[in-house]
Amino acid sequence: MSLTQEFIDKDNKYGAHNYHPLPVVLSKAEGPWVWDVEGKKYLDCLSAYSAVNQGHRHPRIIKALKDQIDTLDLTSRAFHNDVMGNFLKKLCEYTGFESTLPMNTGAEAVETGIKLARKWGYEKKGIEKDQAEIIVCSGNFHGRTTTISGFSSDPETYDGFGPATPGFKMIPYDDIEALKEAIDPNTAAFMVEPIQGEAGVKVPSDGYLKAVRDICTENNVLLIFDEIQTGFCRTGKRFCWQYEDARPDVMLVGKALGGGLYPVSGILADWDKMDVFTPGTHGSTFGGNPMGSAVAIAALEVLEDEKLDERSQELGSYFMERLSKIPSDKIIDVRGKGLLIALELKEEAGKARGYCNKLRDRGILAKDTHGQTIRFAPALVIKKEEIDWALERITEVILEE
Ligand SMILES: *Cc1c(COP(=O)(O)O)cnc(C)c1O
Repeated sequence: MSLTQEFIDKDNKYGAHNYHPLPVVLSKAEGPWVWDVEGKKYLDCLSAYSAVNQGHRHPRIIKALKDQIDTLDLTSRAFHNDVMGNFLKKLCEYTGFESTLPMNTGAEAVETGIKLARKWGYEKKGIEKDQAEIIVCSGNFHGRTTTISGFSSDPETYDGFGPATPGFKMIPYDDIEALKEAIDPNTAAFMVEPIQGEAGVKVPSDGYLKAVRDICTENNVLLIFDEIQTGFCRTGKRFCWQYEDARPDVMLVGKALGGGLYPVSGILADWDKMDVFTPGTHGSTFGGNPMGSAVAIAALEVLEDEKLDERSQELGSYFMERLSKIPSDKIIDVRGKGLLIALELKEEAGKARGYCNKLRDRGILAKDTHGQTIRFAPALVIKKEEIDWALERITEVILEE
């Protein structure tokens, strides 16, 4: 039996079957590249769902973590530590918000945003006890907790996990009229992804972000952007809302904040919203811990110093333009922003998964979403020559019968 199969069998024998990974077992990584246990090299075009924007094992982020574990480990928030404050300051400066609340995973940041919105609704907007509503969009992906799964529109996500947490209302994505109609006096917030990543890189119409910003302002409703996947330069700006200058009231971040080395997430808001949290109302044993804080500082410095926003925008435009020139009627759409790119195939062309398997054989790891779509989201440190290398192979796979 192959080494690969041995590992896969072990995963399947002892691990819950809550994923369906491509049959490749990775054992080494560097920059945009990964290697499997057989020694085969691949270009990683998923980047752990955009959690490794800075590239795998960035030396500067590794050093920050190593230095940190040599001096102080976990303290909990029962005491202060001498790293967290520097991280919070750095994150506020990087994002332009007044305050932040650090957590660990994306889903926890979403839960934190929901709690803030509800408490703000009762204390500041005057919504009657337990009546607060949050509007979300169909096709959303905000994580996997029971509450978050409960307001998903994807049966795979919510089916069998009810009863759903009440207080959520769903409207279509990219529909300004639907938002206007859905808002009522009990609406505390509208929570939305600036691009729906997991739904297949759904890019809303130009002007949508700005329009939802204005509608929320007019109606005294908090606008919450989930930038967990789109944030930290992935779409060619620090944050995707910056394309339309649509600054949210609350921004959710995660994934690349941990530089691919450590789970770090959080929410950002100005003090007139964040002050609804008082001692004892929220927390996390690991949130703001010294390792995560040290890693996040380095992760942010890398994004800045290596100008990964500009790189992502330039290389993303190039990649997309070249993909849209592949002469094949199998392709019905190439879309995205920065290096968050999707290629959608006609039904008759067959499932995207088959293409992902063929790409894997040629040394490219990409993930299919929703049947017909392949996502390309390499690390933002990728070089133009490496994109050319990938384009050659992608073209071959698409043109093949
Ligand atoms: C990945 C993701 C989450 C959840 O993050 P986890 O760290 O997996 O809990 C939430 N929102 C968006 C948009 C995501 O892409």
